[in-house]
Amino acid sequence: MMRLTGIGASEGVAIGKVLIFHQEELEFPKEKFLSSETAESEIIKLEEAMKKSKTQLISIREKVRAKLGDDKADIFDGHILLLEDEDLMDEITAKIKEDGLKAPYALKEGIDGYCEMLSQLDDPYLRERVADFQDIGTRWLKNLLNIKIKDLSNLEPNTIIVTNDLTPSDTAQLDLENCKGFVTEVGGKTAHSAIMARSLEIPAVVGTKSIITTVKDGEDIIIDGDEGEIYLSPTPELVKEFEVKRLEQINAIEELRKLKDLKPITKDGHEVEIWGNIGKPEDVEAVIESGATGIGLYRTEFLFMNSDHMPTEEEQYRAYRAVVEKMNNNPVTIRTMDIGGDKELPYLDLPKELNPFLGYRAIRISLVNKEMFKTQLRAILRASAYGTVKIMYPMISSIKEVRLANQILEECKAELDAIGKRFDRNIKVGIMIETPSSAIIAYKFAKEVDFFSIGTNDLTQYFLAVDRGNEMVSDLYSAFNPAVLEAIQKAIDAAHNQGISISMCGEFAGNKDAAELLLGMGLDAFSMSASSVLKVKNKILECNYTDAQKYRDLILSKDTTEEVIESLR
Ligand code: PEP
Ligand code: MG
Repeated sequence: MMRLTGIGASEGVAIGKVLIFHQEELEFPKEKFLSSETAESEIIKLEEAMKKSKTQLISIREKVRAKLGDDKADIFDGHILLLEDEDLMDEITAKIKEDGLKAPYALKEGIDGYCEMLSQLDDPYLRERVADFQDIGTRWLKNLLNIKIKDLSNLEPNTIIVTNDLTPSDTAQLDLENCKGFVTEVGGKTAHSAIMARSLEIPAVVGTKSIITTVKDGEDIIIDGDEGEIYLSPTPELVKEFEVKRLEQINAIEELRKLKDLKPITKDGHEVEIWGNIGKPEDVEAVIESGATGIGLYRTEFLFMNSDHMPTEEEQYRAYRAVVEKMNNNPVTIRTMDIGGDKELPYLDLPKELNPFLGYRAIRISLVNKEMFKTQLRAILRASAYGTVKIMYPMISSIKEVRLANQILEECKAELDAIGKRFDRNIKVGIMIETPSSAIIAYKFAKEVDFFSIGTNDLTQYFLAVDRGNEMVSDLYSAFNPAVLEAIQKAIDAAHNQGISISMCGEFAGNKDAAELLLGMGLDAFSMSASSVLKVKNKILECNYTDAQKYRDLILSKDTTEEVIESLR
């Protein structure tokens, strides 16, 4: 047995078998040109690999159909058509017959050439197919080179994924029935893979350095997402012990469910709001089930990331409206897309950057791509006719950005008016407070908008200059740092002085150990993943507001993160 430690990123215990997930290097034969092999035998191998790829794509298509419906499944028909393109096949076989290339080299050249050709077409739809075709081409090559393709959407029962990193798009296609947890080598508590794990309610441990070279595929493993611990090849006694712990956790959750319909009010009568964070319409059920009375953050970028093309106004409108209708007049805060940082969008063809978190991200992309932004704003506005919608801009760092975004929003309203589409004329508009500049002059921003929401995930990384996803500096990353706490207090006071409301939708809001402090600081609303809602509500119900304010004064007088955490205990 072996014990490893990482960072607990999503609570709970999971017991299962290891699946190592990493993109294997494509290993080509040493010789590039045909020698003993004949062109005919190479072409047969090429065709067989193509047929195998087609069978795999059909099987994925049918699984997607069962899980996500016809719309998503039909995308794979397009992929199969690309794979079967006769011109492409002719080109590749010519490279074998005429140039004497071995099949893998001919195929690689064929794929690269095809991608190049697609990327130069005028038709934006076809241009956007480049990323798809790269995917399909890699599958075909892997099959030709006999490299096993690991598919996250189709797992064995009780799988625990061990990987260097799980990107948000990997997480999005996870086979949730069979994936019981995951372990990564890199990342921190507020990296997006960790946030996704929490919203999916699967245990996860991140930042477990060099685990891939330590584990074997199929090895028994226990992960403890509360403690950030991993046990490889555990003894039967330990398995029993964790089985008990797992059941206790399930019972504790059952117990908390009794609080579902209670309002989050302190013993001395101070009421706050508890809302849920979502990434896609399907997440709403868990939020409603938790008893949360609104959506404090809808991360719309996942709609963009889970699509193979830029979602149209109609597609976005349908997704937003579904959420709004399900929430039944409770507030739904729709954040405009926050691509960039650790969230990529292949079809937008963003350049690689040295400092993506300080670069072309979120509102900065939206303001440059005005038509794309307007498409999203019109879709949100149209959905606002069906309930209580609020619009929120991410990563705001200057007043100029807010004014520009609002000006574009007004253009969208006028366009909808002109074609007679309904929307909420009193729609509230707010910003994320997640950059130091917005926190420091929050009192100026407060005059420009209707509400604030504090994004502690980014606020912490930008205030402390500590990458939120870098396990090497994860011990420096804490929203309990006195500088971050003071920034939060500043934002709350600025909002209240101006008479606007302020919520928090960063992960700190769902940290039950921070609840009394945030309550004392005067936070109006706490927004978090559904799995944290009842734990935080439980805390609020136990608190006294006047005590929490005294406690806030004590905590804010501390000089170091360690002293703050010590006082919390
Ligand atoms: C945040 O930064 O705290 C936040 C809620 O936004 P995201 O995690 O999506 O960057
Ligand atoms: Mg953020």
